Amino acid sequence: MLGVSKSASEDEIKKAYRKLAHQYHPDKAGGDEKKFKEINEAYQVLGNKEKRAQYDQFGKVFEGGDMPGGGANPFEGFDFGGGGFSWNAGMGGDMNDIFESIFEQFGGGGRRQSASSHGSDVEIIQHLTLEEAFRGVTRDLEFKTNVACAVCGGIGYQKEQGQKDCAKCGGRGELRVERRTFFGRFSQVQQCPDCFGVGKTPNAPCASCKGTGRVFGTRTVRVTIAPGIDDGQVIKVHGGGETGERGGGNGDLYIVVKIKPHAHFTRVKSDLYLVKKITLAEMLLERPVKLKDIGGEEFSITIPAGFSLKEKMRVPHRGMPKFGSAARGDLYLLFDLEVPKHLSAKAKKLLGELNDELGS
Ligand SMILES: [Zn+2]
Ligand SMILES: [Zn+2]
Repeated sequence: MLGVSKSASEDEIKKAYRKLAHQYHPDKAGGDEKKFKEINEAYQVLGNKEKRAQYDQFGKVFEGGDMPGGGANPFEGFDFGGGGFSWNAGMGGDMNDIFESIFEQFGGGGRRQSASSHGSDVEIIQHLTLEEAFRGVTRDLEFKTNVACAVCGGIGYQKEQGQKDCAKCGGRGELRVERRTFFGRFSQVQQCPDCFGVGKTPNAPCASCKGTGRVFGTRTVRVTIAPGIDDGQVIKVHGGGETGERGGGNGDLYIVVKIKPHAHFTRVKSDLYLVKKITLAEMLLERPVKLKDIGGEEFSITIPAGFSLKEKMRVPHRGMPKFGSAARGDLYLLFDLEVPKHLSAKAKKLLGELNDELGS
């Protein structure tokens, strides 16, 4: 170790670190890259107040804390000071987390497995038309994922056959494993891999799901999409995803909404744009122009005298609903003047008169 006692101050730890780092620096004669690395790792733990507080509460799972004098210690040669670290049994903190971090740091140990495991989240894409986005829609979405086994009801074994004490751990759910590390020798309490720490194993695992409590199948989720949903919006259905193992709970379902382009309307957030063909009469005589909005509702507008076709006309509240509210965006009209392809002699004459009348 760094050769400091548990009660060592930060300064003492820093000093000890510098001394050892100097001594074992790979560039030095007598340096040792592996030991240098280990010293650095130890310092990262002990030099960090927060981490140290965790390890100071660690004692419960260390046996004693005395370093063995024997040669089996892979870190032999380090000065562990007066008996090295002695770890106090402490309260608080998640022991598993501490185990994980310490063993990960020193390359040992493994992840704690759970008797049950939570299902994964599932993402599906749902295409809607603009009309559906306008009105809102309720759909039964079907997709393939792991679903609860119908035979055992998701627990993974035949319930009526019951469970017995785990043979591997004798029903304790945990196994004691001796470890030698840089910090000294201590025994780690490991979760039993056979019963996942429960201490019980089923008498008759479910054959249908091979004991996992789930099978690959089809899930149907009914989802109601509110009016005004926009392209790319995501709807979360809590628990609508994959079923976990042995009753571990479902993941969530994320529905990514894609809105198909519309033949006539173009959407910009809650506003819509529409190109409308108009006749000369509608343009010049202020005759009503009939239109249908995205909801299929008919309405009409008149083009005011002097209106420029380069402008767009705003029709308030004829756009898309604003998601989550009763308000609607606006509709913007762009006009496309229909020019007659053929003019009769009479039409030409009348247009000539019109031209004169307008006094150009
Ligand atoms: Zn089953
Ligand atoms: Zn067991």
